[in-house]
Amino acid sequence: MRAYLLGFASVLMAGSALAQTAPAKPAWGTFGVDTASADPSVKPGDDFWSYVNGSWAKTVKIPSDSGAFSQVSRLNELAASQVRTILDEMQTKRASLTGDDARMVDYLAALNDQAAIDARGAAPLLADVALLDAARDRSALAAEMGKATRYWQGTPPVGRMPRYFPSPFEIGIGQDPKNPAAYTAFVAQGGLGMPNRDYYLKDDADSAKAQAAYRDHVARLLTLTEAPASSVTARAAAVYVFERAIAQAQWPVADSRDADKTYNLWTIADLKAKAPGLDWDAYLGAAGLGQRRNLIVGETSAISAIAKLWGDTPLPVLRDWLTVRLAKDRAMALPKAFQDAEFAFSGGTIGGATEAPPRWMQAIELTGAAMTDAVSKPYIDRHFTPATKAAMDELVKNVLAAMDRRLANLSWMTAPTRAKARAKLAAFTPMIGYPDKWRSYAGLNVDRADAYGNLKRAGAFEWDRQLARIDQPVERGEWWMMPITANAYASAVNNQIVFPAAYLQAPHFDIAADPAVNYGAIGYVIGHEISHHFDDQGSKFDPQGRLNSWWTPEDLAAFDQRKAKLVAQYNAYEPLPGLHIRGAQTLGENIADNAGLAVAYDAYKISLKGKPAPIIAGTTGDQRFFMGRAQVNKVAIREAELRKNILSGVHSPSKFRTFSVRNHDAWYDAFDVKPGDKLYLPPAERVKIWE
Ligand SMILES: [Zn+2]
Repeated sequence: MRAYLLGFASVLMAGSALAQTAPAKPAWGTFGVDTASADPSVKPGDDFWSYVNGSWAKTVKIPSDSGAFSQVSRLNELAASQVRTILDEMQTKRASLTGDDARMVDYLAALNDQAAIDARGAAPLLADVALLDAARDRSALAAEMGKATRYWQGTPPVGRMPRYFPSPFEIGIGQDPKNPAAYTAFVAQGGLGMPNRDYYLKDDADSAKAQAAYRDHVARLLTLTEAPASSVTARAAAVYVFERAIAQAQWPVADSRDADKTYNLWTIADLKAKAPGLDWDAYLGAAGLGQRRNLIVGETSAISAIAKLWGDTPLPVLRDWLTVRLAKDRAMALPKAFQDAEFAFSGGTIGGATEAPPRWMQAIELTGAAMTDAVSKPYIDRHFTPATKAAMDELVKNVLAAMDRRLANLSWMTAPTRAKARAKLAAFTPMIGYPDKWRSYAGLNVDRADAYGNLKRAGAFEWDRQLARIDQPVERGEWWMMPITANAYASAVNNQIVFPAAYLQAPHFDIAADPAVNYGAIGYVIGHEISHHFDDQGSKFDPQGRLNSWWTPEDLAAFDQRKAKLVAQYNAYEPLPGLHIRGAQTLGENIADNAGLAVAYDAYKISLKGKPAPIIAGTTGDQRFFMGRAQVNKVAIREAELRKNILSGVHSPSKFRTFSVRNHDAWYDAFDVKPGDKLYLPPAERVKIWE
């Protein structure tokens, strides 16, 4: 891989890769926007999302196996099918494969072999449940919970399946936000089988329906683990009571995403004193963290309350609760009846889908999670071009320059803070497509006849790697997302912005599209991710990635004033009757959407180098820029999924994300938006963060 990278560097220097390899025609429309999707009967100033995507929205059919159809879900499925083709080809040469090639092909084959999985029945799970049943007191059960944690394989986040951590206290290892040059251990709240606490605490008709369905779901899973039929209804009700109490103790999303509130360095002695009820020595010891001096505790009052709850809840209820967690999380490696139960609730009741996603796709996603780099490398070799990477480098450079210019001229920030902000920006590392170094999975034992065991072994393989790195140098080049995942992220502790290869396709990025469209789309996404480093949470991290406030009180006050306006703007949106967007919960993403579009617009202007943008098919450059932006959110969503998004998500629903254009003056000029139009805001009410 190294040689390839060096070769690629010389292509980049030559600067001609773009012209030589660029396809002549954009993937969408004549200039990169699918104008056939537009609804010209809608005024852009009334509903800009429908103006660009409306006729598509009227005819699109959400696949029956999904709660939504988005560009991201489409690209994730495309990447999964491309990986499937690659692995199927390798499968035909299985006899000659060795090492990670053999491992991933066998891992996938085991998951795809439904007949073999069905033939084994629930036996592999029941063997683990027997260990829970053998735990004679809460300490012994806490130790079993610690062991189950070691086998849990839930990162990096994969596709559409929710994963279930086998404990109400989620422990993990990561960089210390106050010392990102070191790894440390974390404890956070967890334990819910529905998407978040609101699903338990709200009492409207939809919530009551989901709660009843969840109790039935738990009863069904207990039946599948061979609990006597006469007992399951009462046992499921008891599990529900336990989870509801956890939900009551949990912090709401707006607080649990607060970097200051969730940074609490506690010794193990603190944990035992402040959160009695759980045998922490037994739990942490079994997970391999018994020797830690301290941990970073997230939602402190919730951790204390849940520990007390653990101590007060009858042992059989705790056992049932853990059994259900294991069954849900490992459903793909269990007989079809388990998968059907898991889908019926998580996909059906919660997501509104009517059919399970194809097995092969979930199997690819799980194989990718278990051996991310092994699965991603052949995909990159086949589907990601050096020209895309070179063009992205150029885009990122222009968006960073635009952000720097904004910071340099920022009216509301004091000079010393502005200087620090610019230093932070200068220290950025963009990561595009795939990691520089590929990991090996040597030592991971994969058995082609044991999907269930493979899942656990892959979990333990990763957990042990994480444990071993505590007190070792930090690997800053490591990716937290799969290159085959269509998404992007910003890492505060590493001062990075990261764009996986699978994301860098139309409508996000198309090398053959007009630059205005690319700046409105991927340029905005780049700006969005950059902005996360300066949003309500990212702004708390310094250029070295430390959680260390570098703002003066007057800067913070000026920032708070802008944040409050944005919170109010989003609180006013009501996507479903009676259900408003939560402005505080979605604030970081709304800031990033707002700021990302502003810097992308500047970057587009920089890229024009003073020349006027051409008129293409009757559209101006500015119009194409904003249409490119709206296409990114070309999403159709079912009501149940939309509800989940509003209650538990940190992003505003897609349509309303697009409406962030109303804060940008250039959009008013581009589409002649006037007072009286529904999205019109008087200039004084437009929220401008970085100017
Ligand atoms: Zn974001």
